[in-house]
Amino acid sequence: MLNGTPTGVGLDAFCDSCNRYLEAGDDVRVYVTAGRGDRLSLRWVSCSTCGPCGDATAAEDGELHAVATLRSVLNAPSPRLVLTDARLDPDVSHEVVRR
Ligand SMILES: [Zn+2]
Repeated sequence: MLNGTPTGVGLDAFCDSCNRYLEAGDDVRVYVTAGRGDRLSLRWVSCSTCGPCGDATAAEDGELHAVATLRSVLNAPSPRLVLTDARLDPDVSHEVVRR
């Protein structure tokens, strides 16, 4: 459900924790909140070294912590980085998440 979500500006993205430059092929962790309906909003992106965003160990209702890999999309209206291969972060408990 997060696959294809754009992140960063153009082909530039940075870890929100350590400010490291992120590029296509990098594994990242993302923090997402659920809005109305099934709409998900990408809030934070961290590099794989920094660990779950905000040092989270458990997600609260309406939150998701996920891991994903960055991929560049060059044929969009403008080139950008998007999330691919997204799945729940194995280091964060999602017991309270209902969906
Ligand atoms: Zn980092």
